[in-house]
Amino acid sequence: MTAKDQISKLRNELRVHNHNYYVLDTPIITDYDFDIKLKTLQDLEVKHPEFYDVNSPSLRVGGAITKNFDTIVHEHRMYSLDNSYSKEDLLDWETRIKKLVDGDIQYTCELKYDGASISLTYENGSLIKAVTRGDGSQGDNVTSNVRTIKSVPLKLTGSFPAKFDIRGEIVLPFDGFNKMNEERLEIGEEPYRNPRNTASGSLKLQDSTEVAKRPLECLLYNITGNNLSIESQFESLENARNWGFKVPTVAKLVNSIDDVLEFVDYWDVHRHNLPYETDGVVIKVNNLFQQEELGYTAKAPRWAMAYKFKAERVSTRLNSISYQVGRTGAITPVANLDPVELAGTTVKRASLHNADQIEKLDIRVGDEVFVEKGGEIIPKIISVDLTKRPSHSEITQYITECPECNTTLERTEGDAKHYCPNYSGCAPQVVGRIQHYISRKAMDIEGLGGETVALLVKAELITNYSDLYQLTKDQVIPLERMADKSAENLINGVEASKQIQFERVLYAIGIRFVGETVAKKLAKHYKSIDAIAKASIEDLVSVDEIGERIAESVLNFFASEEHREIIERLKQFGVQLEISAEVLANQTDILIGKTFVVSGVFESVSRTELKKLIEDNGGKVASSISSKTSYVVAGDKMGPSKRTKAEQLNIPLLTEQEFLRFIV
Ligand code: AMP
Ligand code: ZN
Repeated sequence: MTAKDQISKLRNELRVHNHNYYVLDTPIITDYDFDIKLKTLQDLEVKHPEFYDVNSPSLRVGGAITKNFDTIVHEHRMYSLDNSYSKEDLLDWETRIKKLVDGDIQYTCELKYDGASISLTYENGSLIKAVTRGDGSQGDNVTSNVRTIKSVPLKLTGSFPAKFDIRGEIVLPFDGFNKMNEERLEIGEEPYRNPRNTASGSLKLQDSTEVAKRPLECLLYNITGNNLSIESQFESLENARNWGFKVPTVAKLVNSIDDVLEFVDYWDVHRHNLPYETDGVVIKVNNLFQQEELGYTAKAPRWAMAYKFKAERVSTRLNSISYQVGRTGAITPVANLDPVELAGTTVKRASLHNADQIEKLDIRVGDEVFVEKGGEIIPKIISVDLTKRPSHSEITQYITECPECNTTLERTEGDAKHYCPNYSGCAPQVVGRIQHYISRKAMDIEGLGGETVALLVKAELITNYSDLYQLTKDQVIPLERMADKSAENLINGVEASKQIQFERVLYAIGIRFVGETVAKKLAKHYKSIDAIAKASIEDLVSVDEIGERIAESVLNFFASEEHREIIERLKQFGVQLEISAEVLANQTDILIGKTFVVSGVFESVSRTELKKLIEDNGGKVASSISSKTSYVVAGDKMGPSKRTKAEQLNIPLLTEQEFLRFIV
């Protein structure tokens, strides 16, 4: 087979597997086999740049940077939708359209997905461009970002029109959204507010590699173009599905408004089990000839109607506002409400976000407020029912002092939040930092939980995480719910944490913006906390993946006398503040200046271990063979193309055993 054929075969195979995985949710090969195929393709593509194809599955990982998004005029305008809220509204709509068209009307019912709308253009089965809705007549060209979304087919299958636009919604499923927020909280950043804004924000990121990392999905629902030879909306959904698009299967063809309402009632309840956010149903006249007869108003098609789910919004009384202090000192105002049913749960509290929000909505204690639940973790207040405002109500005065420690709050220019600057004397900050220190991904201290930390701080037994190492059993036994055994477990757990590797300690000490990955990078590069503490900004930013914001945060952390003292104490207690001798002992410079490619399956070590061995001994691991490769470590089932390439370039192959002998 020629290289060209091989490339095209692999591209097709990978497309099918992508489709199985991301569109149909039913993969038929293992991730490992997928990766091998992808690697083989990438290698071939490097070797044969003449077969470059922007729609190759190998380019899904991103790479393109967009500084400014071009504006593109939509060939077919992207309309908005009219809204309805009741059966009466829908019957009115039906009466209106029946006057304009002949014959019976069937409707396609779909869910209204809450994300960012997108228009994709395909020519001869290839994705040509992706444009945001913008103002409806023109939007932003976000093609390179959309290419990274795996459920967007880059090449179509079956028989499709030569040219068409397909519209849909880019959504961020709850799972992925929550995961992104967990990661943000870990590095001391504010969580994203809701999946919709995060999805549309993602489309406008400059670095497509970042977009590729976000678990976005693209759900399609409308085909637009000339001479498409499609007769109905329902048919167009089926077609799109056959061409490889992700088209939700919940769409239903019905004959009457009563059936529409049945669909609405069903999904009003069951949508809470869907992986993404929906805010209503969209009803479309099914027949495209009828659609054409109906046409458009200035704003929306006459042939479609959105029906907004009701339970979304309720009104209730705001009893009081309380203020919470987070681990970083950020203040979050919280509304305490008369309990009310909303989207299947009882709501007692709602987020007020910050002082600006309260001022903007003029929210006052005693008000009747409207509460909505979107993708947010807790519901939010969206407006006040001014008709019900008590006559004696008072404008809300935002607090000026910390509710926990009475310190005057600070607010820096451009920051929406107030902060309590009392770093070491404000209980929730103190407790929060220690809770982070003991958490599972950090020091993972068995026998010690978040509540116990709060009790220990309250009893003034500890004020920072280094104090944990001085606790005695006698001190903790008197605490609530402590027994002899649990006290012993606690002390043992703390003792055991002295064995935790340096990179995790570095994460545990809670330097802002230093998450797990950054901690690993820093640990590997500097090898000890002392070296990190001494590093300059210039030095820090020269480390791979360390930006200015992180570098400044590291510098600030060690600029504090208090932090330096705490670190000194950790050191005295025997916490790992440098890469351990054992790890270092396994690290040599034997392989310095040598680049390895690892291929195939190994017996005594895993591929990951093998790569680590190479790096620990000063070598570099590359993913594809080139003239710069020093050796290929070849395992069982090494890809034939790699072998050929190694032979062509005269690069020595090492067996697993040969390699291991190399480093001892
Ligand atoms: P609105 O933004 O309230 O005017 O609603 C119109 C938007 O709903 C469209 O621009 C689409 O982005 C979005 N939408 C979500 N799901 C659908 C659907 N199934 N059919 C049509 N539009 C939808
Ligand atoms: Zn405080």
